[in-house]
Amino acid sequence: MTEPAHGDTHIRMLISQERIAQRTEELAREVREGLGDGPITCIGVLKGSFIFMADFVRALGGPVRCEFLGVSSYHGGTRSTGVVRITEDLRHPIEGQHCLLIEDIVDTGLTLDYLTHFLAQRKPASIQTVALLDKPAHREVEICASHVGFTIPDEFVVGYGLDLGELYRNLPFIGVYSP
Ligand code: 5GP
Repeated sequence: MTEPAHGDTHIRMLISQERIAQRTEELAREVREGLGDGPITCIGVLKGSFIFMADFVRALGGPVRCEFLGVSSYHGGTRSTGVVRITEDLRHPIEGQHCLLIEDIVDTGLTLDYLTHFLAQRKPASIQTVALLDKPAHREVEICASHVGFTIPDEFVVGYGLDLGELYRNLPFIGVYSP
């Protein structure tokens, strides 16, 4: 059993800051190799992806546009409601652009599925998806991100942007929350 992390006995470290940093560099290289040196429109899904996105776009380098989509699906609990709601739309058109949707975690897959269809209607040149975490245990739609950082077991995780009731987003690592 790992030591409780950050002094909170409900949280146990799952993925360290160092491993996240290393994997983020690898993912960025992978995406650049696929899309080349041209402009990439990175679309972060708020709020969970904001810390990953900040590190990812810096690792990506080259010409990058940053956009955000506000989405609400959990309403503060630990299980998905299955209802995806857009709370903040893109500020600019993405037509003809190579887009990369940036997610913190894919669980049921409903959010990723909804958002890829939502973005496709805006006629981008291409859409790829990158998810820092993949939790395949509860998939409800057959979908997988184009690029995945870590596949994790069926546990509720917090930190590095992910919250529980708006807390813990500022932890520099990914931890498992168990009350
Ligand atoms: P999905 O639609 O794939 O079920 O869920 C996607 C969203 O649910 C994620 O963007 C994230 O906000 C939330 N989510 C899913 N699993 C977890 C988890 O283990 N921890 C936290 N904090 N959020 C999660």
